[in-house]
Amino acid sequence: MSHQATKAEIDAVVDRVHEIGLKTEISRGEERTLVGVIGGNAYAYKEAFSHLGGIHEIIPITKPFKLASREFRSVDTVVDVGGVRIGSDEVVMMAGPCSVEGEEMLLETARHVAAQGAKVLRGGAFKPRTSPYSFQGLGESALKMMATARDETGLKVVTEVVSPGDVELVARYADILQLGTRNMQNYALLQEAGKSGKPVLLKRGMSSTVEEWLLAAEYVLSQGNRNVILCERGIRTFETATRFTLDLNAVPLARELSHLPIIVDPSQATGRWQLVRPMALAAVAAGAHGLIIEVHPTPNQALSDGAQSLDFESFDRLMQDLRRLLGALAKQLA
Ligand code: PEP
Ligand code: MN
Repeated sequence: MSHQATKAEIDAVVDRVHEIGLKTEISRGEERTLVGVIGGNAYAYKEAFSHLGGIHEIIPITKPFKLASREFRSVDTVVDVGGVRIGSDEVVMMAGPCSVEGEEMLLETARHVAAQGAKVLRGGAFKPRTSPYSFQGLGESALKMMATARDETGLKVVTEVVSPGDVELVARYADILQLGTRNMQNYALLQEAGKSGKPVLLKRGMSSTVEEWLLAAEYVLSQGNRNVILCERGIRTFETATRFTLDLNAVPLARELSHLPIIVDPSQATGRWQLVRPMALAAVAAGAHGLIIEVHPTPNQALSDGAQSLDFESFDRLMQDLRRLLGALAKQLA
């Protein structure tokens, strides 16, 4: 819409779109309002708007993902999780165990990472394990422990949901719903998470292209949920010396293609705790808005992902280095 477009003119455009049978998504920027017209072949209806006032320009969004694209929204989206803002110049640290193994270890970890400057507590209650014989998580009782840890420390809570039927349950306890790499193309789950309205942390599929990932984000956004945080967590390559290959290209690339915030998970990506700190720093240098790090009081006793979990001492060292790096980048820790 043009700078001078009135509310009545914007409403008339929206009504016309709905009459045609397409959907709208409004993006209000500081400069102008953008009416996104969503639906197959929407651009073909261009002429239906030729007599309406207040329209500056009708442009096709050329990317297959629409709501996720920079073309749709030029300014960065900041996802506000109860005051923790993800997507700004303030880098957000999310940390905690791979799996919630019990209340005591969770509280001990939560207190420690909070004292070091983390803002969000991670911890799996429902674990999507490669083997059906591996520890599957404590389920709802783990969600309750996460809520207890939030009450005590003030940390926000991110935890994975693995099936559409569990979205409501997990959303009752979590501040952010994590959708895992193995579920990035579980479209029923994406839609359910979209409907919940909760912020969604969308991990990149381990064998997915950046375009497929942004199309997965589009599934959530198209349910009217704008609070999507992308998470690069490593992809499959020929290399077997590390668990996955951290695709740091994806960070500046996603920021170019999309307005959505992006964070990095160097724990899943490397599979080795020794590599976590350097790759976490590299991710922030590449422009990541945050990090999600696995931390365990006694990594060699962890029920999942011990080899890639930092102990408290290594986590403290990461936080110390991160602060110094942020100083050099003229950024801050949230
Ligand atoms: C995790 O965060 O513990 C996890 C299972 O992540 P991903 O889906 O990236 O493997
Ligand atoms: Mn893990």
